[in-house]
Amino acid sequence: MALIINAECIDIKDGECTVVCPVDCIYEGTRMFYIHPTECIECGLCESVCPVDAIRYDDEVTPEEEIYVTINREYFEVTGLGSPGGWDRTAPAAIDHPIVAAAPPNKTTVETALNEGKNT
Ligand code: SF4
Ligand code: SF4
Repeated sequence: MALIINAECIDIKDGECTVVCPVDCIYEGTRMFYIHPTECIECGLCESVCPVDAIRYDDEVTPEEEIYVTINREYFEVTGLGSPGGWDRTAPAAIDHPIVAAAPPNKTTVETALNEGKNT
């Protein structure tokens, strides 16, 4: 069991959760972060700091979020990352899980951009 990150992180990806993770088990993709399913020690710190409520215990997800349990787990297989033992902050962002790569733009990000456009 571990925590997972859901679609709310897509295109937000501010990295707040990575600052508090004591074992550096949150890894950077191009559009979102992913939690390693076996390196996570379930401390829950990341869940408390996420500004968009994107983090869940994997046994508390809604039916709509269920796919993100699979996505967080598969991410480390499809990228070939395996179990590195900690995120290397100096490495460039890895590719995303194919489902995330193909996901539409995050609604929150689009709304923010539109509002900023109106205010300029
Ligand atoms: S629950 Fe704790 S160990 Fe797991 S990803 Fe969040 S901060 Fe890291
Ligand atoms: S704190 Fe939330 S939005 Fe920020 S990177 Fe982590 S999961 Fe994504």
